[in-house]
Amino acid sequence: MAPPDAATADIAPPQVSHDHGPSSPPAAAATADMQRPKYSIMDTAALAQVLTEHRIKLHPHVENIQRHYILHGMPLSVAEIDWSRIANLPKAVGPLLAAHFGLVTTVTQTNRSADGYTTKLLVKLPSGSLVETVIMRYDRHQRDVDGDDTASIVSTTQGKPRTTVCLSSQVGCKMGCSFCATGTMGFTANLTAAEIIEQLVHAHRVQHVDHVVFMGMGEPGQNIPAVFAAIQTMTNRRILGLAPRNICVSTVGVLPLMHQLLDECPGVNLALSLHAPTQEIRNEIVPSAKVYPLDALMAAVDAYIARNKRILIEYILIKDVNCSVPAAHELGKLLAPRARGVIVNLIPYNPTETGRQYVPPTHDDVAEFETICRQEYGLRTTVRRTMGQDIDGACGQLVVKEQRKGRAAKKLTAAAAAAAAAASPSSCSDRPAVDVEDLAVAPAAAPDTFERKIGRVIKRRSSPGRDDTPAAADDAARDGDSGKDFVRDWLPVGLAALAGVLVTRVVWKLATRRRR
Ligand code: SF4
Repeated sequence: MAPPDAATADIAPPQVSHDHGPSSPPAAAATADMQRPKYSIMDTAALAQVLTEHRIKLHPHVENIQRHYILHGMPLSVAEIDWSRIANLPKAVGPLLAAHFGLVTTVTQTNRSADGYTTKLLVKLPSGSLVETVIMRYDRHQRDVDGDDTASIVSTTQGKPRTTVCLSSQVGCKMGCSFCATGTMGFTANLTAAEIIEQLVHAHRVQHVDHVVFMGMGEPGQNIPAVFAAIQTMTNRRILGLAPRNICVSTVGVLPLMHQLLDECPGVNLALSLHAPTQEIRNEIVPSAKVYPLDALMAAVDAYIARNKRILIEYILIKDVNCSVPAAHELGKLLAPRARGVIVNLIPYNPTETGRQYVPPTHDDVAEFETICRQEYGLRTTVRRTMGQDIDGACGQLVVKEQRKGRAAKKLTAAAAAAAAAASPSSCSDRPAVDVEDLAVAPAAAPDTFERKIGRVIKRRSSPGRDDTPAAADDAARDGDSGKDFVRDWLPVGLAALAGVLVTRVVWKLATRRRR
């Protein structure tokens, strides 16, 4: 059926429903900057609903709109785009898009590493939360630049140069891995599919991206609907057209994700963050291991390999925790039966602020671990380069730092409020509650109190004029009290001194008379 003539359709604000919690567009409209568009241009559901409300057929317009936006350089404002160049698009759609769509996230910080290979974007969501997006560049010259000769560099120098973007899927994470900065934040919210795709859009604006990994903040397995929807948009040939083999989803071992990925997103790669060769060590550093035990994970790995040939096994190497020689043998024994289908990516621990005193392995530790896996168990291995350490490259580091700055500023404000309350004549119950750390800052109140006292003295001496403010009345009352105190304290002393003088005088007169 041909679309109705939509040229006269009104462009009243549409009501689009989403079910992705606090970061959904309606919540954004209520809380975020009112200048921002209400809906993301990459939000397929919102686009579909708005077009439906205006009786405009969805196919092929939704895909055409998103593709047109991408082909035109993904500007921050969709109003810059000439929508009339899309064939057969009703004229009313352009004003609709300009009025209600755009990018709902913004980049608030862009940090580039000194070597130029890593760029970290701090992305602000409509809810105000921050997530990280990392762009990593690999090219044939890296070996010469960094002088490294690890296995990963050998593999990196093969093939074409490429740019990979690492996306976040959640604000914070509830999995609590002990070596991860994001794990210390706790969980705040799931990202919507549009918020995930917009990270890719922002990265594309910095540099053309050809590979995507879901290894940023959050566990994709805890936000499966949005992650799968984002991947489906990315791999849609009529929209972003990324090859599924260029996308990798990393999970710490959430079984539903491992089982569903190939059904929902065929050809997409899976990485299992194993990090330990035994259930005991895994329990220690990956708390979710208790829910998803090692034997169930290996069964899921085998099922995945049967359909997609190979899986990436990620293994963080932490000295004195999981990178000993026995641990290498345990890992070898665990993976040897499926050696043809696994690639083990060894990741030297990147020091981060987690509250744990973990130590990175030495170069020799890494080499020995890798040699055992390769030579004794026939595993294919790579060693991940440490990238972007000078810009807090590890997952969640930058956001944790920003949050800490925000908390410090809040505490200073609270401490200042506490100090003001302490200096005021109001009762204790009027003072804001403060915690122990606030109390440590609270002595800042002392100079203020001291200045008030000094101020009263100066005022009494230099300004006899009347002050009717409540504070002045309070000061005057306290001044009157201090006068009474003086009389009470010094009157007995004065009387005693007077009595002493009188007694001395009487004694002296009596002595004088006797001598005569
Ligand atoms: S490593 Fe991944 S799953 Fe574990 S806490 Fe960090 S973000 Fe979450």
